[in-house]
Formats: sequence, structure tokens, C-alpha cells
Amino acid sequence: MHRIGCHISSAGGYLAMGERAVALGANTFAFFTRNPRGGSAKALDPEEALAFQAFCRAHDIDRIVAHAPYTLNACSAKENVREFARMVFEDDLKRMELTPGHCYNFHPGSHIGQGVETGIDQIAALLNDMLWPEMTTTVLLETMAGKGSEIGGRFEELRAIRDKVHLKEHLGVCLDTCHILDGGYDIENHLDDVLDEFDRIVGLSCLKAVHLNNSVGGLGCHKDRHAKIEEGALSREAITRVLCHPALRDLPFILETPNDEAGYAAEIRLLRGWCGEA
Ligand code: FE
Ligand code: FE
Ligand code: ZN
Repeated sequence: MHRIGCHISSAGGYLAMGERAVALGANTFAFFTRNPRGGSAKALDPEEALAFQAFCRAHDIDRIVAHAPYTLNACSAKENVREFARMVFEDDLKRMELTPGHCYNFHPGSHIGQGVETGIDQIAALLNDMLWPEMTTTVLLETMAGKGSEIGGRFEELRAIRDKVHLKEHLGVCLDTCHILDGGYDIENHLDDVLDEFDRIVGLSCLKAVHLNNSVGGLGCHKDRHAKIEEGALSREAITRVLCHPALRDLPFILETPNDEAGYAAEIRLLRGWCGEA
């Protein structure tokens, strides 16, 4: 059975998130570790964390994919913004260890005129300060659409960050289907070639999660506008190939499509049907 889920509101805490996910037919999910625009995180006490873990085991949820806030920019030109990124990252990773063995996904960042190389250095420096040998969480760099000065729109940039990180075993990649199409990787017509390229440059073993989104714009548009799963540039066939590809099918698939909860439940059902699990 595929792991398919969606973005869930973190309101009400961990157990409430888990219950909401299961009610939608999901067996994985994503959530913002705090308000997507930044702000403070809700406290998680160890007891609630244990209850959440038991709930997950009972409902065959073995991997969730937390998302760092959008405002986190490890390679901002402003020092106070980079400092904020460190604060958030450190605090989030500490909390993640209360629910061991999951993923923490973040946008590598936008270099805002500093240049790609400086950006990559700053992102790698943050990771080298944040990762520690005994951690159980896997930190994921998200593939980006290459909007503005975003880093991570090219596989080479993800490779360059990885090359500079010491504890590579704690670092993976989350493949966002909207973002890579917008970045110019033709997963509509040439999924195998794109994955071969990813394998050559980064390594398929680094892939730990997929953000399954359709895209309003077309190949190479660099727009980053998500579409519902049956709308947008990617066909049903292309999305099914992503879901069922041997290199991807065991990963958690997270919908970040513009939907309310009922819409997500319908898309999860639809996708299970497309891969013959309905
Ligand atoms: Fe994201
Ligand atoms: Fe995404
Ligand atoms: Zn996006």
C-alpha cells in the first residue's frame, strides 16, 4: 500500500493531526512546525508525543514529513534573517526528536543577490551546525521551482550543498513534482530521464519524500503555483507514473494541492484508484 497523505493543519496538536489525517484516508501527512510565515511553535510534551507515536503505530503511519516555515531562509543577505533560520531550525529539530524517525523538510533558501555559491555555503554551514550524529530525524532539502533567487531549482545545487555537509546520512531530498516541472525537468514526458539525471547528480538513495502536486504553469515556467491533482500541466498518466515508479513508490507522497480537507480526501481516494489500491 502506498503512503499517501496531504498537508494537515497543526491546530489542536499532534494527536488531532493524526486523527485528521486518518479521517482523510491518509497514512502519512505533512504539517507546518509553526505558522508557515514564522512565529512560535506549539509546545509538545513527552506524554503527548508518546500518545501520538502509539496512534501512528495503530494506524500504520510510519513516516511523517514536517515542513519548516516559508520564512526560514538560511541564505538571506540579512544576518538577522539567517539568525532566525538557525533559531527555528534548532528548536524544530529538538522537538522532532520527541517523535523519532520522521522527516523535516525545508526550502534551501533564496540568496537575494548574494550569488548561488555564497547561498550554498550558507545553507551548508547552517546544516553543519544543526545536524548531530545521534539524531533520528532526516532533514530534507526540497527541490525548488527556481523562482527569483531560489536555490535548489537545479539538481546540481542540491548536490553542491550535500557535498559540503559532513553528516550526509541525516540529509535527504524531497522531490516536489510541481517545482521540478516548473524548474524545467520534463516529468510529463521523460520521467525516467529526469530520475536518471537525479541519480547521476544527487543519487536516488537520497530521495526520502515526494510532494505530489500538479502545476498551473508549464515546463520551465519557474512560477511555483500548485494546481489540484486533476488540473494543471501534468496528466493523470504522468502522475500515475510518478506514484508507481520503482524508485519512488515506497516514499511518502504528500499532496500540497489547493484543497480543503474534503478535497484532499477525494484526491487521496483518486490516487489510490490510479495505482490500483482503491
Ligand atoms: Fe515546500
Ligand atoms: Fe512542496
Ligand atoms: Zn511550491
